[in-house]
Amino acid sequence: MSVNKTIKIIGAGPGGFTAAITLAKSGYNVNLYEKNNNAGLRFNGDFQGLENWSDDEDTLNILGGLGIKINFLCQPCSADELYFIGPNRKKVQIKTSRPLFYLVERGTGENSLDQGLRRQAEELGVNILWNHKVDSLEDGLAIVGTGPKAADAIAKGIVFKTSHKNISIGFVDNRIAPQAYAYLLVNNGRATFATCMFKDFKNEKTYFKRALQLLNSSIDIDMLDVKEFGGFVNFFGEPILSKGSRMFYIGENAGFQDALWGFGMKYAMLSGYYAARSIIDNQDYAGLCKTYLYPKLKTSIANRWIFSHLYNPGYNFLFRYMAGLNDVIPSLRKHYNISFSKKIIYKIARRWYHTRLIDKQCMHVHCDCVWCRHGKHEHESVENC
Ligand SMILES: Cc1cc2nc3c(=O)[nH]c(=O)nc-3n(C[C@H](O)[C@H](O)[C@H](O)COP(=O)(O)OP(=O)(O)OC[C@H]3O[C@@H](n4cnc5c(N)ncnc54)[C@H](O)[C@@H]3O)c2cc1C
Repeated sequence: MSVNKTIKIIGAGPGGFTAAITLAKSGYNVNLYEKNNNAGLRFNGDFQGLENWSDDEDTLNILGGLGIKINFLCQPCSADELYFIGPNRKKVQIKTSRPLFYLVERGTGENSLDQGLRRQAEELGVNILWNHKVDSLEDGLAIVGTGPKAADAIAKGIVFKTSHKNISIGFVDNRIAPQAYAYLLVNNGRATFATCMFKDFKNEKTYFKRALQLLNSSIDIDMLDVKEFGGFVNFFGEPILSKGSRMFYIGENAGFQDALWGFGMKYAMLSGYYAARSIIDNQDYAGLCKTYLYPKLKTSIANRWIFSHLYNPGYNFLFRYMAGLNDVIPSLRKHYNISFSKKIIYKIARRWYHTRLIDKQCMHVHCDCVWCRHGKHEHESVENC
């Protein structure tokens, strides 16, 4: 089936690939522009978690519903191999009725999410233009999924080989990960260890060093072939979804990111799917996002405010509470979805939180650039753009 219409997609990340796969399945010609010469070059073979607690439906069913095949490493992480260590250094095991998350690999490795999505797109005939950095759009309709543009939170970590058995540990302590967490993910002889921070970025080396000391004092783990990696995530209080009627923003570029923990992959894929569906079915992209993604984003900003104000004693309390639950999934789901109290807290959090994104790059008066988010009709002066 061909609808003889060509759509441009900018950025071969999970968001861009999901949009490309969705459109290609509906018979559109898709040109996917990627500035690098491969998918996943933003990452270094590190493991990430595809969260599985925020929806009633299992994340793999959700991906299936989007038409995404699981042709990449996607390892369920269950309670028997999952621990948390809080500021009091006590090892806490939690109970879950289903995998808390699915471990995926990011980067250029054959089994990575990025390469799996790449293969699916290629099989559907998506025309991927590698080494094509797109800065402006002269004509046509485009979906822009170029990822984060500023660092609201950063991660510093290592990937390594190990003989340790499969295990996942989350560490929460402001002394090693200010207002965030550190994590160890081990899968079949390979491991990722990183610490994340939402503030005090300039001391990232110190936090990483302390986090590594804590890891080594918590478990006996050998490390071979150690490679460093790092990265950042970006989220806005209010996502920016489109510029005029020609450009749709998706994923982190639109500001879709879990403000509490940085679990942005599901947001990216869902927003990519919605943008594609809005073109295929002539539906309102904003309407689709507002139904599912906005309430979650709002809740995550409220949660970020709460988490930032708990401090170490609060984190100890949180772990004691989680350890006492027969199943943490319903509780996490409740806290990851909107409620009356979260709406109130969101109002406070919105005033408190300011994204670090300052849109400095665009100097055009009548602009077609994919970077700035102001439509032609919305601005006439350099100041507004
Ligand atoms: C260290 C780290 C750990 C993380 N851990 C998790 C986790 O455990 N779970 C989770 O859900 N999320 C995690 N995230 C977040 C997750 O990786 C992102 O939210 C997700 O990749 C966003 O997808 P995206 O498609 O919006 O953008 P990206 O994945 O950033 O892809 C954007 C693509 O666009 C390309 N591009 C950029 N500009 C241009 C241009 N002008 N022209 C052409 N191409 C361009 C880039 O090269 C890139 O390939 C983590 C992020 C980091 C940094």
